[in-house]
Amino acid sequence: MSTVAAVATGNAPGGIGVIRISGDKAAEIASKVFSPMDKTSLCDLPGYRAKFGNVIINGEESDNAVALVFRAPKSYTGEDVVEISVHGGLLIVQKTLQAVLDAGAKPAGAGEFTKRAFLNGKMDLTQAESVADLICAQGEAAAKASFNALQGSLSKKIKGVLEVLLDLSALMCAWVDYPDEEIPELEETELLKKLNFCKDELDGLLENYDNGQAIIDGVDTVIVGMPNVGKSSLMNMLVGRDKSIVTHIEGTTRDIVEDSVRLGDLVLHLRDTAGLRDSDDLVENIGIDKAYKALDEAQLVLAVFDYAKPIREKDEDLINRASGKNSVAVINKVDLEKRLDTEKIEDAFAKTVYISAKNNEGLNELEKAVEELLGVENFDTSAPMLANMRQRQNCQNARENIVSTIDSVNMGMTYDAINVMCDCAADELLSLTGEKATEQVVNNIFSKFCVGK
Ligand code: GDP
Repeated sequence: MSTVAAVATGNAPGGIGVIRISGDKAAEIASKVFSPMDKTSLCDLPGYRAKFGNVIINGEESDNAVALVFRAPKSYTGEDVVEISVHGGLLIVQKTLQAVLDAGAKPAGAGEFTKRAFLNGKMDLTQAESVADLICAQGEAAAKASFNALQGSLSKKIKGVLEVLLDLSALMCAWVDYPDEEIPELEETELLKKLNFCKDELDGLLENYDNGQAIIDGVDTVIVGMPNVGKSSLMNMLVGRDKSIVTHIEGTTRDIVEDSVRLGDLVLHLRDTAGLRDSDDLVENIGIDKAYKALDEAQLVLAVFDYAKPIREKDEDLINRASGKNSVAVINKVDLEKRLDTEKIEDAFAKTVYISAKNNEGLNELEKAVEELLGVENFDTSAPMLANMRQRQNCQNARENIVSTIDSVNMGMTYDAINVMCDCAADELLSLTGEKATEQVVNNIFSKFCVGK
């Protein structure tokens, strides 16, 4: 395989920038652009060693740098790897990369280092995907779940189930193919016990994924309410800075503002909307239609009401529209005198919280209400967890094939018929871990990575 290189650090100025080179010729290529102070050559350096020296660009010493050498198979990719750390100015990083490419490396594609790690057996697909998830994780719980997957907790769970399925399959094959040998027939109760164990393990994974999805992917959240109830102020309180424009004039937030904020363990993808009111203004009406549409599509609705105003017609509309959904009634302006019929709102919504966006009060109550509403408060980040829809689909298909296998045992079908379904279940799990994934699936996964990972 060719030797490839890319910048492994972010595309912004930083303390250091790292150029990663991987492949048979990594040390040879690196030695053309990096000269150690002690005049030795990187080509002679064993793995896990570092040298301080200078980067040479176009024959000129251009920066102090550190080169770190890893030797196959003990590296991230499983190949020889050299990482050159230069000072993290964008220009010097790019020029060093160019010098490395001029010295014979090819530019690495998106996710190519991790793809090589997968192809060289350093990690399975679930671990490779968790690398990308860890990089993208915005919440603490998502980061923890991704790190657990990277450590192999999901792979271990899947392999446990696979082992049982493959053992059963081998036994059934042997019994069918070698009827004359003295192979003991599988006890039906034993067979069912093992299949049910597999089904329960996969059910646990599917359930945990569904419970934890809000934590991993974040929750599409919409803030709705009449003008001036404090939607923008709530958004700002959540975001922690002035994103929406807050004014006294009704109808200033005409369109939908988007931002992602952390609320406890959750990440909310927030949409602030135009205030709900009757208006002759065409642009404003478009905004109001969008607000209703956003409300219908959202996974979580924060329906905002004004503590200091009686319930109005559009409040009623909101109560009717939002109360059937995953909604929290957020009663704002509790620092003012009460005029709102709060009982009516408490009756209509599963959760009601009282806040004062102006005084920054009530965030903890809101956090608790949202976590309870979405059922994530008991989500166990240390449990093995499927990371995405691809993995979930494989797991679901495997489960369905196991259920069919159980049904066919109960119907008294022959071992070779039963075995077909058992094998299909195993194939789905092999595809999940990547042992039997098609090239297209693998390419598709790594194409979503960033260059340099
Ligand atoms: P929106 O139209 O629903 O987005 O409402 P804004 O967030 O723009 O707020 C409208 C007005 O209410 C502004 O003058 C805010 O300063 C004020 N406001 C927002 N939250 C509170 C609160 O908790 N208490 C009081 N007294 N005023 C608030």
